[in-house]
Amino acid sequence: MHLHEYQAKQLFADYGVPVPQGRMVESIQDAAAAAKALGGGRWVVKAQVHAGGRGKGGGVKLVDSVEAVENTARALLGSKLRTRQTGSQGLPVHRLLIEDTVEITRELYLGMLVDRARERVMVMVSASGGMDIEEVAARDPRAIVTEAVHPAVGLQPYQCRNLAFAVGLAGDQIRAFTRLLTGLYRLFEQQDASLVEINPLVVTASAELLALDAKLELDDNALYRHPHTSDLRDPTQEDEKERSASEHGLNYITLDGDIACMVNGAGLAMATMDLIQLHGGEPANFLDVGGGATAERVAEAFKLILADAKVRAILVNIFGGIVRCDLIAEGIVQAVQEVGVDLPVVVRLEGTNREEGKALLAASGLNIITAEGFSDAAAKVVQASRGAGA
Ligand code: GDP
Ligand code: MN
Repeated sequence: MHLHEYQAKQLFADYGVPVPQGRMVESIQDAAAAAKALGGGRWVVKAQVHAGGRGKGGGVKLVDSVEAVENTARALLGSKLRTRQTGSQGLPVHRLLIEDTVEITRELYLGMLVDRARERVMVMVSASGGMDIEEVAARDPRAIVTEAVHPAVGLQPYQCRNLAFAVGLAGDQIRAFTRLLTGLYRLFEQQDASLVEINPLVVTASAELLALDAKLELDDNALYRHPHTSDLRDPTQEDEKERSASEHGLNYITLDGDIACMVNGAGLAMATMDLIQLHGGEPANFLDVGGGATAERVAEAFKLILADAKVRAILVNIFGGIVRCDLIAEGIVQAVQEVGVDLPVVVRLEGTNREEGKALLAASGLNIITAEGFSDAAAKVVQASRGAGA
């Protein structure tokens, strides 16, 4: 689960990681009130969306009057912000963070993530903060210095010092950096984070360290341990189809192609996407209806597929082991009766109650193309997506 910057900064503050003074607002009036309450005469207005690259995308504005805060809030609230991380649709801006500005002397990068291969939390720092860290990594990998944390002993002070030296901190800053890292690691561990990034972590004119940006991802599989954090979820930032899918217990991911797939089992779904590509097509989605699929769930899955306007053909690839083929067919028919389908549907059913399933589909009035075997199904659906029929 992604968090907003303002939510991440609230958690940072709870764990002793220094952040600028700021307030989250949802209206123009509140933006002006926040600026007045913060005082100072110069503020940063930051669009809260689940994506980075906001600075370059026009979502971070430095302003020096309350009127300018209002005008910026008016322009941003209700708009869609497009950055290189949001995709062409952009993400809706409903919340802003109004913050005190700081005078920056240096911009550092700080990140923590789970390295699955090493089975450790990796701490990464770079003196080249503020810019795209991916670019830094590609151009000059040695500009990023890492330490691996042993889970049994946790982050050690000597590791913090190593990292502080690597980015050229000295004197009191090393102590401050160690405190900051220790707090951040504690947050990472206690909140079951999978990624935290501070870019930039700045050294201010008064030589203090401050997290100017905050990116935090929590491990979905551990959310049950943090019932309160589910309140932090912001559905407006999520793909609507993927959200509706997860509510129905379906594993669905939107992709760029035009061939929709409905498959049972993640492995078979992956193989299905591979075969579609092998035959020159592009999958429109990944969809695993799971082993315990009910007719209702299949119907929801089929409706999800049909809600995607770019879909030109559908491939149903089911291996009926635990799930029964006739039950899948029943779900498809149910969905078709509710929403109507005129797209070609290629069906490959194998296994339990395959004949019953086929009979149900044949009687459904759908434009069904039956396939014998996996490769045949992929070839036929690619052909159908090009309007050539089978
Ligand atoms: P991102 O582009 O989505 O990663 O958003 P950031 O929060 O990193 O903001 C983008 C950039 O705005 C930062 O790298 C800073 O250079 C700049 N910025 C943000 N807050 C301040 C501030 O208080 N003072 C100054 N001078 N610059 C800031
Ligand atoms: Mn940033």
